[in-house]
Amino acid sequence: MLELYRKLGIRDKILSYGEQVLKSLEETFRGIDETAEYNQLKVLSAMQDMRVSEACLHPSTGYGYNDLGRDTLEKVYTAVFHTEDALVRPQIACGTHALAVALFGNLRPGDELLSPVGRPYDTLEEVIGIRPSAGSLAEYGVTYRQVDLLPDGRFDYEGIRQSVTARTRLVTIQRSKGYQTRKTLSVAQIGELISFLHEINPSLICMVDNCYGEFVEKTEPSDVGADLVVGSLIKNPGGGLAPCGGYITGKEEYVRQAAFRLTTPGLGKEVGASLNTNPSFYQGLFLAPCVTAAALKGAVFAAHLFDGFGFTIVPGPEESRHDIIQSITFGSPDGVTAFCRGIQAAAPVDSFVTPEPWAMPGYDADVIMAAGAFVQGSSIELSADGPIKPPYTVFFQGGLTWPHVKFGILKAFQQVEEAGLLTL
Ligand SMILES: *Cc1c(COP(=O)(O)O)cnc(C)c1O
Repeated sequence: MLELYRKLGIRDKILSYGEQVLKSLEETFRGIDETAEYNQLKVLSAMQDMRVSEACLHPSTGYGYNDLGRDTLEKVYTAVFHTEDALVRPQIACGTHALAVALFGNLRPGDELLSPVGRPYDTLEEVIGIRPSAGSLAEYGVTYRQVDLLPDGRFDYEGIRQSVTARTRLVTIQRSKGYQTRKTLSVAQIGELISFLHEINPSLICMVDNCYGEFVEKTEPSDVGADLVVGSLIKNPGGGLAPCGGYITGKEEYVRQAAFRLTTPGLGKEVGASLNTNPSFYQGLFLAPCVTAAALKGAVFAAHLFDGFGFTIVPGPEESRHDIIQSITFGSPDGVTAFCRGIQAAAPVDSFVTPEPWAMPGYDADVIMAAGAFVQGSSIELSADGPIKPPYTVFFQGGLTWPHVKFGILKAFQQVEEAGLLTL
């Protein structure tokens, strides 16, 4: 073992520090494994209940009429999320697209969109029109209002009450922190917020951006009142196998509206060939609870490894987890760059390339991304990224197996140490 770590470039001192840190994590890891066991049984039971068969794994082409695999998979998602309907499609290009489809499908000119949890994910700013953008909701006459979290991270209930007007139609709640340093919301917190909103107006559509949150807890936002739950298949629920795609699940009426936007009015869910995606969508979902657990262990390990060197770590080493993201604020561009280069060097694909900060569509600062992934940009695979702007925070996530995440974190730690940003 020691020899292999050495061959892969990990110095003895770094490895033994890692092993020492790991000793204190047994209890936490047991908890993560227990959640994975629960979610594995939940997924298995959904697949059995919906009678997933060998025929479901076959491709469809052209219009994709009567695609048994696609339609059954959507039923499996409704069983896992305890919802009425689902749209799970390779035609959904990414998480942003899934969210945009849900928003455009359910909002009409004159409606108002409300975010009661502060600024949404960077790429949504152009979807909504917070940053002016061609084709945004703003261009279609949908207005936007935002209520920030209170300085201590709690919901500003009074502010939210005042911001719900007769025009408020849809409320978007982002579970994960995205590129921010606020805390990720727990499913329980999301449930409290939704109850409050539905008390004000039961017909508000409460949509949760569930990116990076799937299978981290035993329940999902749809178990606590969310009308729509949206995410990406190249994150947790694709289990690392889905080559593309996204999902929208929730109340039948709202999923149907989203389907009319994804394809066309009238056609909705009836069309959309699955091509060859069914096997990987099913198998990826099947693996997702354990893949998510591996990623979660990596996040916990990283938080403990980098603790005590003066960096800001969110979530903190002992905090409860509600998504797979770990952020570390280095306070300098060098820290972000060194960390990302370590993660890249640990990858199974493109380990020999050196990531550089670059302009990315949808982001307003240069971003550095480390992703030596089998699926381009997949962030359920071991990956790290960070915008090159103060406070210089790196966001780390993913890893398909625990041994690989462990190795990747050690590599990133060593790179940061070698850049002179910490002394062991
Ligand atoms: C990843 C992510 C999205 C969507 O991003 P894509 O890169 O378009 O898949 C949206 N919201 C959050 C919180 C995310 O983490």
